[in-house]
Amino acid sequence: MCGIFGFCGNSGCFKLLRTGAFNVQHRGQKFAGIATCGEKGVIHQRVLPGLFKPNFSEATSEELSGLMGISHVSLKEPQPFLVDKSRLGSFVVCFSGNFINQGELEEKYDIFSSKSPATEILARIIRQSESFEQGIEKIANIVKGGWAIAILVPGKGIYAARDNYGFRPMTLGKSIEGCAVSSESVALNKIGMRVVRDIKPGEIVLVEKNGFQVVSELESPRKAFCVFEWIYTARISSILEGIPVKRVRMNLGAKLAENDDVVGDITAGVPMSGIGSALGYAQRSGIPYDEVLEYNRYSDRSYVPITQDERAEIAAEKLSEIEYSLRGKKIILLDDSIVRGTQIRKLIFRLKEMGVAEVHLRISAPPLLSPCRYNISTRTSEELIARTHKVDEIRKIIEAKTLKFNSIDALIDAIGLPEEDLCLACFTGEYPL
Ligand code: SF4
Repeated sequence: MCGIFGFCGNSGCFKLLRTGAFNVQHRGQKFAGIATCGEKGVIHQRVLPGLFKPNFSEATSEELSGLMGISHVSLKEPQPFLVDKSRLGSFVVCFSGNFINQGELEEKYDIFSSKSPATEILARIIRQSESFEQGIEKIANIVKGGWAIAILVPGKGIYAARDNYGFRPMTLGKSIEGCAVSSESVALNKIGMRVVRDIKPGEIVLVEKNGFQVVSELESPRKAFCVFEWIYTARISSILEGIPVKRVRMNLGAKLAENDDVVGDITAGVPMSGIGSALGYAQRSGIPYDEVLEYNRYSDRSYVPITQDERAEIAAEKLSEIEYSLRGKKIILLDDSIVRGTQIRKLIFRLKEMGVAEVHLRISAPPLLSPCRYNISTRTSEELIARTHKVDEIRKIIEAKTLKFNSIDALIDAIGLPEEDLCLACFTGEYPL
């Protein structure tokens, strides 16, 4: 996963780019990068390993000054990527997503030793084109997969686009200071912007200081918005395709509460992505919500996790059981999904050690059966416990008293968009592309 933030305005953009990237930091923690461009058209760019804020302090604002720029957080490749000279002039490109045919494209474009091979493929395609618009159109034809892209072009603005299925999100925002594009709406809100709309699948938009210009709309075979964004990836304060993440998570909890006959004392969520569904479950069931796990907001990580399981492990390290809330209680515990089951098993063990009477686990997502092709894959087929075990077998392994998952129909209902507009491949194995 990656997070993109781009801003184009009338005054210094460094602080806004920094706040923007910091607010999409959850989408990637391995590299942080920024590129800016001032009135004279000179691009300043810097990419470093690690988190955004520690790398880009006030001290760096001087050398990264400018009126427009892009900032990026990455789980895999250092970005943004600078193309210093080309027939289109200098530009900077960054993206979020994954290419199914990357190996083939690396050979075709002769990319063997790059630290950012996927980003360099995009840069090569663009620099061989007649215009930026044509470059993005070529990318849409050549590059198979899910991607959202931002290209900073001195003297023009920021070209922003999504693949023609719309797997990866991209939202536009505006304020009196200028216009912006972001992987998530929360980052736009955090710099005081009004969210204008999402970029449509296949749409190419030029973000300028005073507004947005739709440069082209490529044909979209179908929409395939990633449902995992609502379940897990996006922040609870974000809105994707006009659908608030919080509403979906609460709906998912409410769906689990419908027809659930379990008798519990409290409903609780595994922070952070289990909180919304726990609230929804509590409201629908009438079983009061309580916090049984404290999230340590101040624990920092020096280690950068790549797989979903590793991330869950890091997240678990940050959780402390609240004995006062859980001792002797029958808990209905909500979590977003189960990959291997190792982390939730450890958590249930710790809750029991702390004196919980019963743990009834409820999972927002349906059982995970397939890895993702449209994002950096954080889970492999072999890891997915639901591929090889029935629900009751998983329950026994993780030692929960009861275990239920949402159905695919419940997930579609909770989001509220037509099934044909969603990518559900994680749960169905039916890949839109
Ligand atoms: Fe999202 Fe899963 Fe589809 Fe990947 S396969 S885009 S994670 S729904």
